[in-house]
Amino acid sequence: MSPFDLTGKTAIVTGANTGLGQAIATALATAGADIAAVGRTPPVDTRFAVEALGRRFHDISADLSTMEPISRIVSETVDHFGGIDILVNNAGIIRRNDAALFTEDDWDAVMDVNLKTTFFLTQAVGRRMMEQGRGGKIINIASMLSYQGGVRVPSYAASKSGLAGVTRALANEWAGKGINVNAIAPGYFSTNNTEALRSDEIRSRDILARIPAGRWGRPDDIGGAAVFLASAASDYVHGTLVPVDGGWLAR
Ligand code: NAD
Repeated sequence: MSPFDLTGKTAIVTGANTGLGQAIATALATAGADIAAVGRTPPVDTRFAVEALGRRFHDISADLSTMEPISRIVSETVDHFGGIDILVNNAGIIRRNDAALFTEDDWDAVMDVNLKTTFFLTQAVGRRMMEQGRGGKIINIASMLSYQGGVRVPSYAASKSGLAGVTRALANEWAGKGINVNAIAPGYFSTNNTEALRSDEIRSRDILARIPAGRWGRPDDIGGAAVFLASAASDYVHGTLVPVDGGWLAR
């Protein structure tokens, strides 16, 4: 059997209705996993793609800006699929403004979704994985701004740098329990998240000029790293960030 095979595994993917989350859900399903998709709107296209691959799909309607849905996400997934093997914390938002003008709302909104709910959902899923006693795989979607400060996105940089720290902190506690906690750090991908950047001619040109691969990432570029970190192939990989960035960090 391939070490990348995910047949019989259940993966929770947050924010799976668009962009990177949709591509990750589809890649995990291609490798054999069933998908519990968590988000605010029905992920119609993702359901279609996953079911077309012959995998099971369950849609959990939840707003991750508060901790309210966390226990339901775990119980619905377990009721539907019998357990949880993989969690992909992909849902995230960004707010742009000069640091001198940045509002408390733009700070809290980003930190709540990208860091607070992500941590407590991971805590709840991690507890379940420990009860199950068969290990598990947790994949956080970090960013280049887990390494760098970015431009006019202070709460986003704080949240993604914090997520890198949480990834390492949880790996330290859970590696010995057979739970792998790692992150993927995407470079610049063409999704809703980067729409404002791509429509700013100067920023868009400057970003492209720094990417050795010579193009922005396409959502499909992320799937391989997700399957690796979700599978037995990464069983001895703990607490690390895997950049998928077209070479951005090598520059
Ligand atoms: P996107 O905006 O298409 O996807 C974000 C997803 O998060 C959507 O499905 C959205 O519905 C969901 N989401 C946001 N707030 C939510 C909430 N309160 N409750 C439930 N779901 C919520 O953009 P994307 O680029 O696909 O972003 C996915 C992840 O990748 C994010 O964490 C983002 O920060 C990260 N990322 C993206 C890039 C990039 O270049 N696109 C680079 C680095 C990191």
